[in-house]
Amino acid sequence: MFDVTEITEKMNANQKINYDRVLQKLIKQWRAAESRPTILLHSCCAPCSTTALEYLTQYADITVYFANPNIHPRLEYLRREAVQQQFVEEFNKQTGNQVGFLSAPYEPNQFIQMVKKRHLAEEPEGGKRCSSCFQLRLDIAAEKAQELNYDYFGSALTLSPKKNSQLINEIGIEIQKFYQTNYLPSDFKKNNGYKRSIELCREYEIYRQCYCGCLFAAQKQGVDLKQISKGAQEFLKNQPED
Ligand code: SF4
Ligand code: SF4
Repeated sequence: MFDVTEITEKMNANQKINYDRVLQKLIKQWRAAESRPTILLHSCCAPCSTTALEYLTQYADITVYFANPNIHPRLEYLRREAVQQQFVEEFNKQTGNQVGFLSAPYEPNQFIQMVKKRHLAEEPEGGKRCSSCFQLRLDIAAEKAQELNYDYFGSALTLSPKKNSQLINEIGIEIQKFYQTNYLPSDFKKNNGYKRSIELCREYEIYRQCYCGCLFAAQKQGVDLKQISKGAQEFLKNQPED
């Protein structure tokens, strides 16, 4: 399958890379080769995955991978996981697609240990803790993509205006060197992608969380985590049994 660096290496090294254009070039290559690759797309909750799925399902077979040891507390993790899965199911029903869904067990220690080891607890949102957090989750996604033989791994995180997509893409490109799978470049917020995600969230009645996910950012933001747990518990109590 085509490697993103074959495209980025031909670009002007002095200019900021537009990763949406890189993705479009990659898609052109898939189409020229009449191939429909498989993609394991990491997502940390449903909103960012909306636009990404609407766009990517035109060209590739997607599985959403919910794997986020950064999210605190546990009940909130379970809530976001359930909302993500429900969105995938509803999206398939409404569009006739067959997007898959996978989730990782909740392993917050992976994140907490990393923060402790690297002394990142006091970092502001958008700082070094977030870079490490992207790295951790993209690495988990790459490992799973390799294990399950996906052509690409990527993340829906690039939709969020609060996330540095240049950085996310650079980390993804670095990580692919260590795995037998390719990084999927993206900048889903381009072409009004974020605005479209708000429309889709409304259309599918998707829960939008009020903080990014980790304990440290929630504390700095003054988020009431007891209320978050309570809300998540209520939500989960009302879910139909499988
Ligand atoms: S970046 Fe924020 S809105 Fe987007 S999937 Fe992650 S938690 Fe959800
Ligand atoms: S603020 Fe969000 S991206 Fe940054 S470390 Fe916390 S969970 Fe990760």
